Amino acid sequence: MRLLLVEDEPELGRRLSERLRKADFAVDLATTYAEAESWPDLDKMGAIILDLGLPDGSGVDLLHEWRASRVDCPILILTARDSWQDKVEGLNAGADDFVVKPVRFEELLARLNAQFRRHLGKRANVLEVGDLQLDPVSHEVRLAGETISLSRQEFRLLHLFMRRAGQVLPQPDILEHLYELDEERELNTVEVLIGRLRRKIGKEKIVTLRGLGYRFDK
Ligand code: CA
Repeated sequence: MRLLLVEDEPELGRRLSERLRKADFAVDLATTYAEAESWPDLDKMGAIILDLGLPDGSGVDLLHEWRASRVDCPILILTARDSWQDKVEGLNAGADDFVVKPVRFEELLARLNAQFRRHLGKRANVLEVGDLQLDPVSHEVRLAGETISLSRQEFRLLHLFMRRAGQVLPQPDILEHLYELDEERELNTVEVLIGRLRRKIGKEKIVTLRGLGYRFDK
């Protein structure tokens, strides 16, 4: 899943991006208000993590703007520990939750996952489609009850398919979810990945629709 992290402190931005990537998110990092405001593909983000104190503007204004333009993914704000005003303003402007600085990564991750559950309207973390189960937190994937091992990219791809089971996913959309903006993307990597995934979970689960994309069947 793709995330936008907006954080101007270089060390914190780097550290959080690194941990989030290890937790299997594709992370875009914006470091200023101006950058975040004009970020492309906001509609492709699974969530946004937003520091309220930016050098060239207030994160609260960004929140207002995004919510007004129908950016509807979960947004978590990062606030100073002692500023209850920040939290109140942020939540009123459309943030879903907040994490205080200094950020404990485990807490951030737990709050993100809670938002995804709420967003999906589901109580359990584990996704289940047919005989496949995928746990986005532990990264465990089971096929007919047996644990199978997937590479990082295969896991990302399966996660996307299972969340959007039954829908046609065009190749470019799949690429968007698999890679970050500055990573090199090649369409044929999708084909290669799908080939590998099919061998692991069963060929018939992923249907190729010529000229349209792929569909994960329920
Ligand atoms: Ca800041």
